[in-house]
Amino acid sequence: MVHGYKGVKFQNWARTYGCCPEMYFQPTSVEEIREVLALARQQNKRVKVVGGGHSPSDIACTDGFMIHMGMMNRVLKVDTEKKQVTVEAGILLADLHPQLDKHGLALSTLGAVSDVTAGGVIGSGTHNTGIKHGILATQVVALTLMMADGTILECSESSNAEVFQAARVHLGCLGVILTVTLQCVPQFHLQETTFPSTLNEVLDNLDSHLKKSEYFRFLWFPHSENVSVIYQDHTTKPPSSSANWFWDYAIGFYLLEFLLWISTFLPGLVGWINRFFFWLLFNGKKENCNLSHKIFTYECRFKQHVQDWAIPREKTKEALLELKAMLEANPKVVAHYPVEVRFTRGDDILLSPCFQRDSCYMNIIMYRPYGKDVPRLDYWLAYETIMKKVGGRPHWAKAHNCTRKDFEKMYPAFQRFCAIREKLDPTGMFLNAYLEKVFY
Ligand SMILES: Cc1cc2nc3c(=O)[nH]c(=O)nc-3n(C[C@H](O)[C@H](O)[C@H](O)COP(=O)(O)OP(=O)(O)OC[C@H]3O[C@@H](n4cnc5c(N)ncnc54)[C@H](O)[C@@H]3O)c2cc1C
Repeated sequence: MVHGYKGVKFQNWARTYGCCPEMYFQPTSVEEIREVLALARQQNKRVKVVGGGHSPSDIACTDGFMIHMGMMNRVLKVDTEKKQVTVEAGILLADLHPQLDKHGLALSTLGAVSDVTAGGVIGSGTHNTGIKHGILATQVVALTLMMADGTILECSESSNAEVFQAARVHLGCLGVILTVTLQCVPQFHLQETTFPSTLNEVLDNLDSHLKKSEYFRFLWFPHSENVSVIYQDHTTKPPSSSANWFWDYAIGFYLLEFLLWISTFLPGLVGWINRFFFWLLFNGKKENCNLSHKIFTYECRFKQHVQDWAIPREKTKEALLELKAMLEANPKVVAHYPVEVRFTRGDDILLSPCFQRDSCYMNIIMYRPYGKDVPRLDYWLAYETIMKKVGGRPHWAKAHNCTRKDFEKMYPAFQRFCAIREKLDPTGMFLNAYLEKVFY
């Protein structure tokens, strides 16, 4: 019999959202998950499944039952011929990488951190960059899902294909994802080259940058023209690193956090901080080489608030210049660095922000120095207005103010997803406050 805990408090990684679930479960088997769902049906409770708890919004919160998938974390099968791996959905990508290394395999793209689960990253449409690469969920070739009534559905292109097209970005609202099969590629090394540029140069030569580097992205430093360009490309060079404790930690973390905290009393300092730290840390060329997962991911040191919308790729220049003009016209609105700009291939997953279009993701950030929230409402609202104007769709894991009316306009297949959700979960067992705004 699965044991449920009372009094557990859940908080997301950034400590920006939390909740007190009525009961908290850590099942170790499919049978135990089925028991939790049976109990929820009996007591008319809602259920929320949580993975790594990294989503910077309340998407993983509930006041009902919470199922933490941390004990469902095994690699079930590695098919070296097809280069596919089947894992339990609660596995952290950080634990999957060494297993793939052993078999000479890797994922072709990853997000910035690996303390996230297979079920979680596909649930929220996690992405990285590279115009030939889709969001992480495009690497899923099959998955199994336990529905609200306890039955298990196997989904792939050839089995329950309609549900599969929905469930690869599932928002946690279709059921409990039990296993995920991922298409891998042969293990590879990446060379990361970082160099300084300007916003005009990058925006005027976007196509050329996208052609030059497989995993191209750039960081814009608001309140300035400064840009740091990051190319990541396959290499056969041996591992090398430009990491340096003094510059990365003493300056890039401790001094920066202190100055950001000072700027909460003197907001006018933020522009200076952005320019000063670009000059200190991003003004030269740097190179790093390593296994792909060690280059794709990096240590995120700051707790933060973020927004990250996907807009049609061809709107990149218009949107960024408008954001820049907005900041110039409103000197009281301050923006921390960086605005991170990434590119992703279009796909056919019903609620993927990249549904049917190649996209540019534009991630804005406001840090929480020493846990202190910095006013961000005006920046957030201005950004959202621009994103909506250029046809953007918000990242599901990151905070946004959109409701069903917005999503109906943004997603051509929204009604199809709703019909599938209502069929798999007719009583709304897997809904929470966040998802009610999406679906009602
Ligand atoms: C420091 C940091 C860096 C990040 N970098 C990136 C980035 O580079 N790119 C990007 O796109 N995002 C990024 N994110 C966001 C992150 O990738 C997503 O929030 C991702 O969903 C986190 O995975 P998780 O396992 O923590 O999911 P959770 O936050 O635990 O859950 C996310 C959703 O999935 C559902 N869910 C999880 N597991 C299951 C399951 N087994 N069955 C059913 N539903 C489930 C939850 O209910 C919830 O709805 C970052 C976040 C942080 C904090």
